[in-house]
Amino acid sequence: MLDDAIKTQLKDYLGRLSAPLQLTHFADDSEASGKMGQLLADIAGASERVTVVEKRGDAAERTPSFAIHRPDEAPRVRFAGLPLGHELTSLVLALLHVGGHPPKVDEATLKQVEALEGDYRFESYFNVSCQNCPDVVQALNMMAARNPHVQHVAIDGSLFRDEVDARKVMSVPTVLLNGEPFSVGRQELEQILAKVDEGASDRQAEVLNEKDPFDVLVVGGGPAGAAAAVYSVRKGFSTGLVAERFGGQLLDTLGVENFISVVETEGPNLASALENHVRAYPVDVMKSQRAQKLEGTGPFKLTLANGAELEAKTVVLATGARWRNIDVPGESEYRNRGVTYCPHCDGPLFKGKRVAVIGGGNSGVEAAIDLAGVVAHVTLLEFADTLKADDILQRKLKSLDNVDIITSARTTEIAGDGEKVVGLRYEDRTSGDEKSLDLQGVFVQVGLLPNTEWLKGTVELNQYGEVLIDAHGQTSTPGIYAAGDMTTVPFKQIIIASGDGAKAALGAFEYIIRSTAPAA
Ligand code: FAD
Repeated sequence: MLDDAIKTQLKDYLGRLSAPLQLTHFADDSEASGKMGQLLADIAGASERVTVVEKRGDAAERTPSFAIHRPDEAPRVRFAGLPLGHELTSLVLALLHVGGHPPKVDEATLKQVEALEGDYRFESYFNVSCQNCPDVVQALNMMAARNPHVQHVAIDGSLFRDEVDARKVMSVPTVLLNGEPFSVGRQELEQILAKVDEGASDRQAEVLNEKDPFDVLVVGGGPAGAAAAVYSVRKGFSTGLVAERFGGQLLDTLGVENFISVVETEGPNLASALENHVRAYPVDVMKSQRAQKLEGTGPFKLTLANGAELEAKTVVLATGARWRNIDVPGESEYRNRGVTYCPHCDGPLFKGKRVAVIGGGNSGVEAAIDLAGVVAHVTLLEFADTLKADDILQRKLKSLDNVDIITSARTTEIAGDGEKVVGLRYEDRTSGDEKSLDLQGVFVQVGLLPNTEWLKGTVELNQYGEVLIDAHGQTSTPGIYAAGDMTTVPFKQIIIASGDGAKAALGAFEYIIRSTAPAA
């Protein structure tokens, strides 16, 4: 099941187990169960501290599935499916954390996990090609490993299709808590804790309010924010970084092949490399925090969504961008119930179904090509009369026999039956005719919007909502700098955002030394 290189790595990791582990395999005669048995045997082969016990006919458990637990404890961490692909790391971490190895989480957060009381039965649906799933699976597994009141089973949606259909799971990761919907989409540990631990947000705000003013406060944890933080702290400045999701858009990106010096990587890997780099320095990283208001003319006051206030001599804004909506009836009503923005994540849930991709730029055409290999049929709709994607992508798309391309199409509605998407209506802009398509999924791929609504009136924005900056990255307000996808800088790319983050931090450095120089 596992190749020799992975077995060697596993042996190395499992050398860190401080307690014996039992893998209980709830088995049947299916092919998937056979593969699971091989995987568990490979794991047991990598450490003498791991034993496998097979059980059949346990009606209370999903089959096939397996639990990771101490031999003297009831299982709390389970996988119903093969945690390979993007979930292999989740498997290794689950083994380590149940086996007593400490998780890489700050002490306050770990204490918060361990202090949870009550009964938390989490079920999460993943698929192995989903990049947004491992964070959720790993956070919930870690919580279950550390707290006996928490249980978690990670379920491969493609293996338990009936369950997915019955529970109307149309997007991964989807999480249920005690049988009730809990969340859809990527969640970090801190966000999960904030939802289950009432009062956590007020406690966090109290801690944040106690912080001394920063020299440089970076808002955003994507490539631009990470670079700005590293450059500022290396100047000897006290540096804080506030981010809702550390990694930003990298977390939604599959392959990255143009970050010069790294031939090929995946977005989430690059995101954790960025975080490691930032944490290699004494940057005060404040994750899962949303900035809401920025005031002052220096020093500046940043107010967060939980009410906390942070002060700084200078601010570097790097809040990036997000998927653009098409704003038609049905889009928000059926979000995650057939309407989705991430083909890499949710494509496999539409296996054998008919879907539409809206948008004929590079991302739309790439999505359609990707989906064509998984779903029964793809219709690509483009508003303009021609596709805008690169020729090479268009040629590939046109070579696929389960794809229809419709240009001059204005999507007017995503139709549903009250529970899920059943179709799409559009206007043929050439004839003016209203037309409709029967389908089960709509992938919206119409570009990005800058995350700058909260800055209206604070710094000057252009007509698209992008922050205007000068050659040093300074905004219209002296002392406030900006970088990356939220700015007017053309070509929204990782390497450009990183470079601009560095530039903005150096601009802020210049501002501080000039504004603190003694009078002549
Ligand atoms: P982002 O990455 O958007 O980061 C913004 C940060 O700000 C995040 O941490 C976010 O949580 C935080 N934030 C937002 N609002 C707030 C708030 N109010 N308070 C606190 N924090 C906030 N580029 C390439 O070079 N190569 C590629 O192959 C590539 N592929 C891509 C594929 C996809 C699917 C997408 C979506 C983008 C891709 N890009 C690629 C573009 C690239 O990801 C972006 O240009 C880059 O991430 C921009 O970095 P950034 O730091 O400006 O913003």
